[in-house]
Amino acid sequence: MSVLVYVEQVEGKFKKSVFEAVSYAKAIADKTGTSLTAVSIGNVADNELQELGKYGAAKVLNVASAELKNFVNQAYAAVIAEAAQKEGAEIVVLSNSFSGKGLAPRVAVKLKAGLVDGAIELPQLDGGKFLVKKGAFSGKAFAVTELVSANKVIALNPNAFGVKESAVTASIEAFSPAVQPTDLTAIVKEIVRATDKVSLPDAELVVSAGRGLKGPENWGMIEELAGLLGAATACSKPVSDADWRPHSEHVGQTGIAISPNLYIAIGISGAIQHLAGVSSSKVIVVINKDPEAPFFKVADYGIVGDAFEVVPKLIEALKAH
Ligand code: FAD
Repeated sequence: MSVLVYVEQVEGKFKKSVFEAVSYAKAIADKTGTSLTAVSIGNVADNELQELGKYGAAKVLNVASAELKNFVNQAYAAVIAEAAQKEGAEIVVLSNSFSGKGLAPRVAVKLKAGLVDGAIELPQLDGGKFLVKKGAFSGKAFAVTELVSANKVIALNPNAFGVKESAVTASIEAFSPAVQPTDLTAIVKEIVRATDKVSLPDAELVVSAGRGLKGPENWGMIEELAGLLGAATACSKPVSDADWRPHSEHVGQTGIAISPNLYIAIGISGAIQHLAGVSSSKVIVVINKDPEAPFFKVADYGIVGDAFEVVPKLIEALKAH
């Protein structure tokens, strides 16, 4: 038995969530007394692949075929399943990212594996049982799932485990699985926006604002605060519905689910659908002028005050440091 981790690349580079998935898979390999192999699909330079060794991947299968340069769900799932079979891997780990959410069930079907998506902790090996914890009911509860099948697929929530170094030298092996033409029919067009801003799904710090900001013209102070902290910006659903902010910033049940180390919510009421996407943040700071706002019930720190007074003061204090 061994563990296989899929390492998603974006324009030939790995993001922090990939190193986290490798760290998590390495911890599972250590726990089960097995080795760890990574599989990379697309054009990634050898020095970038070698980085995976830093987090414990002793072997990297490099699938550098031109037809798989761009993400295709069906084809990538087939390649990952084939890599698992080649390596005799009974456990496959992916990051629960946009593409990971699509890939994990497909890989599980191909391997006849049990699946846990959105895992938040290392599996517990309890008296021969294989138990994996995940959030349930939009983050209001936890579920512990027992995987009873021989093969297992686990999609790890970003920021749930953290990046842990475990240096080995990664040996890189070219891998050329046969790809069925039918698997290449649906090509997802990827639109990459050039921006120097922190990407929201990977952000450790997030500054988010809601309808309390009154209008898009008031987001300058949110951007400024985020810039000073090195944070990504996010918003509530009505804000993106009203086109005050792009939909890519909408967090919650129907938006992106995030779990940063720090989530600052400004002028957001804390509706259950919003909390569904942010309640697993490590520290939540709420700024709201209404002391009865539901968000205060889940906040670690709260400031009852007018955002238009509090945020400029925060900016001033950060600039003074
Ligand atoms: P409001 O509820 O209008 O709250 C504004 C807050 O700002 C208030 O608490 C107010 O006290 C405060 N405020 C006002 N002025 C100031 C000021 N000057 N300074 C400080 N505070 C101020 N919502 C999401 O966010 N994400 C989702 O994914 C999502 N999915 C949904 C799915 C479904 C099926 C449904 C039905 C709803 C969903 N919603 C979602 C909407 C959700 O129910 C709430 O309506 C929404 O989150 C409210 O957004 P808000 O907090 O920005 O606005």
